[in-house]
Amino acid sequence: IVDVKNVHKSYGDNEVLKGIDLQVTEGEVVVMIGPSGSGKSTFLRSLNKLEDIDSGSIEINGWDISDSKTNIDKTRETIGMVFQHFNLFPHLTVIENLMLAPTELGKQTPAEARETALRLLARVGLADKADVKPDTLSGGQKQRVAIARALAMNPKIMLFDEPTSALDPEMVGDVLEVMKELAEEGMTMIVVTHEMGFAKQVADRVVFFADGYIREEGHPEEVFAHPKDQRTRDFLNKVL
Ligand code: ATP
Ligand code: MG
Repeated sequence: IVDVKNVHKSYGDNEVLKGIDLQVTEGEVVVMIGPSGSGKSTFLRSLNKLEDIDSGSIEINGWDISDSKTNIDKTRETIGMVFQHFNLFPHLTVIENLMLAPTELGKQTPAEARETALRLLARVGLADKADVKPDTLSGGQKQRVAIARALAMNPKIMLFDEPTSALDPEMVGDVLEVMKELAEEGMTMIVVTHEMGFAKQVADRVVFFADGYIREEGHPEEVFAHPKDQRTRDFLNKVL
């Protein structure tokens, strides 16, 4: 479902991605870890063409987005993305936030979109918040709305970039629980996070980024218990 080959990306003379290869299969949950500045966000954003790569190829959900002829809007409709900051539309209610993209893009009638939105809000535990404005919600609730909004487009894959790192500690668990349920239901997910507990419990594979390379990858138990790369060891010593 994701096939990334030899991706390079520089900002000026700062080479941030130095030849990334990654394959993700349907239903797989991949957690990306690594030090600040190692290129995790840049990589995730390039999967959605929010960043243009310099060389290499990226295929996602059957679309070759390194080919300039590919319809990127169509591709993006199949990719749900959740960021650290929730980017909800403040002037819309919660349910209007969820209904916006599917109705604007003609995917669903307003009635269908409303039904989907209510189902998704129930799923993230916020059925009673449909008609409030986002600014009346806690950070954790906002992030769960952001996840539900991404799901409203019925994506084939969900990308998460540090979805819990802006939250108060007591809010983190609820958001991780929603993500865990999503994983158990078979959603393909790539998650950048510092939550090592989540990685251990939920990831099928952990990928360790450092200095623009994937240094190491494997099953979480293997990577956490027996890191082969010295940089992985140093990093894990700091975060575990
Ligand atoms: P963090 O864990 O702090 O989120 P990260 O692994 O996500 O880090 P990136 O955000 O991908 O790292 O950044 C990788 C490098 O690219 C950093 O050196 C950063 O300064 C640089 N960088 C990121 N975005 C830009 C940009 N728009 N313009 C110039 N440099 C950038
Ligand atoms: Mg980042």
